[in-house]
Amino acid sequence: MNQTNRPQPNPGIMDIAAYVPGKDGAPGAAKVYKLSSNESPLGASPAARAAAQKLLDRAEIYPDGASTALREAIAAAHGLNAANIVCTNGSDEAISLLTKAYLQPGDEGIFTEHGFLVYRIDIQAAGGVPVSVPETDERADADAILAAVTERTRIVFLANPNNPTGTYMPVNEVRRLHAGLPKNVLLVLDAAYAEYVRRNDYECGIELVSSNENVVMTRTFSKIHGLAALRIGWVYGPAHIIDALNRIRGPFNVNSLAIAAGVAAAGDRAHVEKAVAHNDEWLAWLNQELTGLGLRLTPSVGNFVLIHFDGSGTSAEEADAYLTECGFVLRRVTGYGFPNALRMTIGPAEANRGVVEALRALLGK
Ligand SMILES: *Cc1c(COP(=O)(O)O)cnc(C)c1O
Repeated sequence: MNQTNRPQPNPGIMDIAAYVPGKDGAPGAAKVYKLSSNESPLGASPAARAAAQKLLDRAEIYPDGASTALREAIAAAHGLNAANIVCTNGSDEAISLLTKAYLQPGDEGIFTEHGFLVYRIDIQAAGGVPVSVPETDERADADAILAAVTERTRIVFLANPNNPTGTYMPVNEVRRLHAGLPKNVLLVLDAAYAEYVRRNDYECGIELVSSNENVVMTRTFSKIHGLAALRIGWVYGPAHIIDALNRIRGPFNVNSLAIAAGVAAAGDRAHVEKAVAHNDEWLAWLNQELTGLGLRLTPSVGNFVLIHFDGSGTSAEEADAYLTECGFVLRRVTGYGFPNALRMTIGPAEANRGVVEALRALLGK
């Protein structure tokens, strides 16, 4: 067919490798544990579920376009000003809006070697030039990022902690990174896993946002709050950036069920603490058990671990096939530059034990 006789997508779009979500099935297995998308083994807070259910009775009514109740609940939970928050349809939408607002065709957007794949996709969708910066020992490296900045750089994405490595950049390094960036470059701190981090030298970015004009933080209700299905994210940023995002977002970008559930979830501290305690316990246990099988794990502070199979006697591909047969669905991470590793979400106790036992059998230990 003549390429000029039909609509053509904008430059860059056909270069995009579409995001492939984690698998959710294991045909043949009696019971399936989905450990491929970093979802919460605790599910959503009962209060959040009830709130969303109630809103179904008013499905004909448009949501509050400003997500006011949700912004206020988030502000109260984090000690922020609600005017500096925009709620979004998952933090994926936040990343896409920020790119749309601040990147022109030909501009460069920076992310790191094993960084979250959505950054590259959104940069390409905006006609920008994706710039992938090498990491050091599977950690984002402030100096390497600064060395990659050019006159065309407009945006820098840092997932902190990062997915799929689970590593984080200490606050002093984040400050140094920010201090080295030109003032017209936007630093996006994606803190999707912030609640899980138990380290004194970690900060999610609130202070850096509050005291600067070129930093934003994105957050999500998909992970610790167990509300991935409802798609709730938010941006905390300086007023001028919030203003720009409000001009380009969909007028009703967050639905009523999400707003109601988000308000209830933000107010349920006990549920968050339960999820953190579960994660602490099983993250430590998995590290110990999997390392004991001779596998290398990247040191993770998130709700997942990256398991490497080099030198183990098996491959990520074989391990994935075997675990899937046993009903444990992990995530292949070849697209993230780890062809011989699997990412495992920390699941319910029986799933964590089951994966260790299956790998023990596979490795003949
Ligand atoms: C899971 C995840 C998100 C959250 O995406 P949502 O669109 O809010 O579900 C954002 N950033 C990273 C690095 C993630 O792993």
